[in-house]
Amino acid sequence: MEIFISGAGIAGLSLACLLAQSGMSVAITDPNLPDTCPDNTEHGTRTAAIMNSILPVYEQIDILDDIKSYSTPLESLRIVDTPAKHFKKPIERVFHAREINEAAFSWNVPNNYLLYTLLKKARTLDTLTLIPRDKVIGFTHHPAHITVETEKNGKYQCALLVGADGRRSFVREHAGIKVNETEFNQTAITAILTHSKPHENISTEIHKPGGPFTMVPLKTEGNNHYKSSLVWIETTPDAQRISHLSKSEITANIQSLSHGYLGNIELENMIQQTSISTMKSKKITGDRIALIAEAAHTLPPTGAQGLNLSLRDITSLKEILIEGKNLGSDLGSKTTLDRYENARKHDIALRSKSTDILNQFIKQDSHFHHAVRRGAFSVLSDIQPLRETIMKKGFK
Ligand SMILES: Cc1cc2nc3c(=O)[nH]c(=O)nc-3n(C[C@H](O)[C@H](O)[C@H](O)COP(=O)(O)OP(=O)(O)OC[C@H]3O[C@@H](n4cnc5c(N)ncnc54)[C@H](O)[C@@H]3O)c2cc1C
Repeated sequence: MEIFISGAGIAGLSLACLLAQSGMSVAITDPNLPDTCPDNTEHGTRTAAIMNSILPVYEQIDILDDIKSYSTPLESLRIVDTPAKHFKKPIERVFHAREINEAAFSWNVPNNYLLYTLLKKARTLDTLTLIPRDKVIGFTHHPAHITVETEKNGKYQCALLVGADGRRSFVREHAGIKVNETEFNQTAITAILTHSKPHENISTEIHKPGGPFTMVPLKTEGNNHYKSSLVWIETTPDAQRISHLSKSEITANIQSLSHGYLGNIELENMIQQTSISTMKSKKITGDRIALIAEAAHTLPPTGAQGLNLSLRDITSLKEILIEGKNLGSDLGSKTTLDRYENARKHDIALRSKSTDILNQFIKQDSHFHHAVRRGAFSVLSDIQPLRETIMKKGFK
């Protein structure tokens, strides 16, 4: 076997399918990887806005049409800065993808559906071995390979071990790779909403103290059954307080924060919470090890960059490995891994830093920060060349 992947989340499965589709022999394991493909899947509360420019990854795996059948194009982005005590009126600006000659900025994809589609595809690929309900518990280095050990006594020899095992990555920690982490004392509350007004494929991001409140369009089901996913960021103590409220109290809070953009709102399922931090691994490679996605970097949901950044890691690693294989190189060698480290380090550093700054900027609520934010927001959105540059840079 050439590549072993630890972690079958969206990132791990995307890489596994991409490599196997190109003829590489790959194995992947995860304690949550089911033995069989489930007939149906729960919607869950998490969705991800995947940028147009990243979608070719799924075209290469040949599942893009399937994904688009349950996803929603985000054609416009409405940003609302709500008035704090110092200001009387909210500022609202709407950005349209057509202004930069695009049909959509991104597509809102329900995470569980995407996982299910990837799993279905993975099961059809001859060179991909799925190892269900197991986990990586160790590895040993050898001059020409690495041996991966799993909890169910599996021992697998491969050229390269890829850590796609999330923000608390076992592979990263066991390899002794250190991280820089910033906790924000913020929590993301997620839910699926049904509502009486159509969303018109507009994603609405309302800036408020504590963090943004974002309603992202989902596919309309049946007759006027409008749906959106919610990412509602609060300080962690406020999120804890909200978690103890009843469903009707939470709905009333959401109704008030939504400022009527979606009409009358109902909660389709109960909320889920995820704490927010920025984490950046000091290196994304080790001895016969490569880290991708949240094992290498975790970002706050502000800016919807996390999975998009992960899919860039995946595209880059795939290209380097396929080229290496074609040249007959050792896929776990330092030369191969240095190419991956160098290809990704600047983009990861830049996007982590800019998401961090954006998150800090939005959550500050002093008079000074609020005034700067409102001024900057008006200037950036009202001067046409600046507005276009920001849209092009932000969504590529
Ligand atoms: C509220 C919220 C909203 C977001 N919205 C967006 C968005 O709009 N756009 C965007 O681009 N991104 C978004 N993101 C980020 C995106 O959801 C994540 O980047 C993505 O889901 C993480 O995928 P992953 O595969 O890296 O990690 P995970 O989903 O955490 O998968 C890691 C897997 O590794 C497995 N694992 C752990 N340990 C082991 C082991 N020892 N052996 C084997 N397997 C193991 C776990 O079981 C898990 O299945 C959002 C994140 C949040 C929190």
